[in-house]
Amino acid sequence: MAANSFETLKQVIEANSVANDFYNAAQEWGITSVDEHPSNEGECVCGQQHLLYMYTIQNHHTGQSLEYIGSKCVQHFQRGDLNLQVTIFRGLFELRKKILAGEHISLTSDYFSRGILAWLYDEGAFPATPYNGNDGGNDYRFLLDMFNKRNKNEISQARQNKIRGLLHYTVKPFIRYHPALG
Ligand SMILES: [Zn+2]
Repeated sequence: MAANSFETLKQVIEANSVANDFYNAAQEWGITSVDEHPSNEGECVCGQQHLLYMYTIQNHHTGQSLEYIGSKCVQHFQRGDLNLQVTIFRGLFELRKKILAGEHISLTSDYFSRGILAWLYDEGAFPATPYNGNDGGNDYRFLLDMFNKRNKNEISQARQNKIRGLLHYTVKPFIRYHPALG
């Protein structure tokens, strides 16, 4: 990335933040959505072109959104949590593509991560139902527990059925129709 595009990034972020300096301004932002340019021609707020994955960021204080920003520019914010959000959104985007393609989805690291499961929970993917004791958190904790099991063969048939049901009827439709995922 050229030095002048980093200058442009700093100017854009500082101009749209409460704090005046880039380091503090960078703390005000989170990633809210991802999209993919069909022919790698997305453009970053810094002027850099040829983005494939285009992220939208939102300021926690003002509610203002900026689009688009590339993952390389997100790294300039020097925040591990923000880089993790990029990884989670990219994983969600790829997972949604597989869902749309009708691919079989399993609760493994080929499709999921702890970050993706936490995002689903935070976004309200698990509604309270009589089946989870009126607490969607029980479904989230169950899936996280099963995801963390090293040996999936030890998971009982009843639990495997429950996983399959949650993925098919709860997780897949939620990701398929979520507006933040392209
Ligand atoms: Zn950029």
